[in-house]
Amino acid sequence: MDNKFRYLPSIKAIQDSSQYRLFLSRGISGKYLTMLAREAVNEVREQLMKRTTGTSEKEIYREVYQKFTSKASLLIKTPLRKVINGTGVILHTNLGRARLSERAAEEVFSAATNYTNLELDLKTGERGSRHDHTEWLLRKLTGAEAALVVNNNAAAVYFILRAFAKNKEVIVSRGELVEIGGSFRVSSIMEESDAKLVEVGTTNKTHTEDIEQAITNDTAMVLKVHRSNFNITGFTSSVSRKSLASIAKRHGIIFYEDLGSGAFFDFHQYGIGNEPVAANVLKDGPDIISCSGDKLFGGPQAGIILGKKALIDRLKKHQLMRTFRVDKMTLAALSATIQSYFLDEHSYDQNPTLNRIMEKRSSVKKRAQRLLEHLEGVSGLTVRLVSLRSPIGGGTMPDVDLESYGVAIKHRKLAAHSLACELRKGEPAVIGRIQDEDLIIDCRTVADNECVEILNAVQNISYAYDES
Ligand SMILES: *Cc1c(COP(=O)(O)O)cnc(C)c1O
Repeated sequence: MDNKFRYLPSIKAIQDSSQYRLFLSRGISGKYLTMLAREAVNEVREQLMKRTTGTSEKEIYREVYQKFTSKASLLIKTPLRKVINGTGVILHTNLGRARLSERAAEEVFSAATNYTNLELDLKTGERGSRHDHTEWLLRKLTGAEAALVVNNNAAAVYFILRAFAKNKEVIVSRGELVEIGGSFRVSSIMEESDAKLVEVGTTNKTHTEDIEQAITNDTAMVLKVHRSNFNITGFTSSVSRKSLASIAKRHGIIFYEDLGSGAFFDFHQYGIGNEPVAANVLKDGPDIISCSGDKLFGGPQAGIILGKKALIDRLKKHQLMRTFRVDKMTLAALSATIQSYFLDEHSYDQNPTLNRIMEKRSSVKKRAQRLLEHLEGVSGLTVRLVSLRSPIGGGTMPDVDLESYGVAIKHRKLAAHSLACELRKGEPAVIGRIQDEDLIIDCRTVADNECVEILNAVQNISYAYDES
């Protein structure tokens, strides 16, 4: 008879423990704490049966209490933890794409904690529309006749196809049948929307005749998809927006462009990439366009739809509108972000995405030097300033490499990947990138006040390994 099971603490013993009482004192209900205590004991019992844990009284106690504490902590700590982005990738999909400005975050806080005029016209006292809050601003910014916001750009693409091309044909160039981030394929979304995909041209070339010849009585739309995350170079040609607009007009079909990245600022003018600016795209004549709110635009997750009033009105009245509508917090963040574009060009600080894309190399270098100075005193580390090139990310501007600066860190006892792992597990988590056996912190995406936090994180690891 194996008696190691005797060492499993009773639920009563856990309830009397200081760990349990600590959570009780934080106001957590005993009902849930007891449930987690039971879970912890049961899991360790199973480990004992499978012989995957130590069998001494001390080891069993430690295992049970560790399990209990880590489970109970999940009832308090936010699962969405702050991460310091040392990757240099400004729109990092895994790290949540765009960061909001403080002003946008304050507007979200206010909208979230108060009642608002979300659907009330304060002038007339009558029912208002949630769409109005951002529509006027988007129209002023882009010159669009009308605008509408939905949950994200994938939803916008689906909604537009479903509303205007269900059971009809949609013509797309083979060079634009893209996949973005592994989970968004134009062809799959089209299938889900019950629009019939008509592929024309070849991967590298599509001509006006290809489009023209594909038009039938069943054609509802010609769709142009922005090649957000790749480029086709060499022997290529595609049909210009102006030609697509005139073909669509002549045949009475809709010309829709999925702009994806959504630049509302002319980065090209500053030598950065070649992203078409939404306002200019509209001038070339698409009936409707859509893009993401949290890519180059720098706002919250949203899908921004711009275009002809007659079409946007049909979307607003569509039964599916209700399933795609955004909430008040998104509208609050989005309107603050749109307003950042009306500021003087040098007030980018109200749009962290623009701010970081436009930040001068010399300014990034200063931050990197400050981080270097912080880290120089830490024992067991070798640090040096490095010049870097970093992509913008989020599947945008694939050809752009921004010049950047950062700090390369080597630890006396830890290999780069182990150091990266320790930093990732810290509080706050710090994410860098590994390059030639060094851990690199790219300072383009680090905030000024985060240099001290990185120092603390590195110091904690350093102490732990100095002692060992
Ligand atoms: C990113 C992207 C999408 C999807 O947008 P989400 O905002 O991620 O939903 C759709 N089309 C293109 C061309 C994109 O680049």
